[in-house]
Amino acid sequence: MHETSGIVGRLSQKGYRLTPQRLMILSAIEGSEDHISAEEIYAQVAASYPHVNISTVYRTLELLKKLGMVYEIDLGEGRIRYHAEGSGHHHHLVCQNCNRVIDIDESTLSSLRDILLRDYSFRAELRHVAIFGFCEDCRRGRSGKGAGADAG
Ligand SMILES: [Zn+2]
Ligand SMILES: [Zn+2]
Repeated sequence: MHETSGIVGRLSQKGYRLTPQRLMILSAIEGSEDHISAEEIYAQVAASYPHVNISTVYRTLELLKKLGMVYEIDLGEGRIRYHAEGSGHHHHLVCQNCNRVIDIDESTLSSLRDILLRDYSFRAELRHVAIFGFCEDCRRGRSGKGAGADAG
């Protein structure tokens, strides 16, 4: 039996109706190993509920975001991706050359947060941040991509 934990329990505690579509959306997010886009969630839900509307997916994501149950991130692909709050706080290093995504621990940015607070009196919400740059392989020219002819 498929048991969806975390988000589902918290949603029903808060009195939100758990429609089959909502449950499918939640299990798509929680079941994804990595970050999932609204389009990918929609594709998974539509496999079981062909009549589902993608706006239902967007509305559910908005709700979950508002409740702090999912985090969104822009990994530079031109679309937003999501992951469940339960998968832990972390940040990402995104290689602009090979598009590799490296997960880093939340604590990595805590000194930056301290500096912003101390010098700018600004309390940064650094819960899920993408930092763009170049990975080790690309810096050393080992990735094979990028150099020479570029197909786009
Ligand atoms: Zn993430
Ligand atoms: Zn790279």
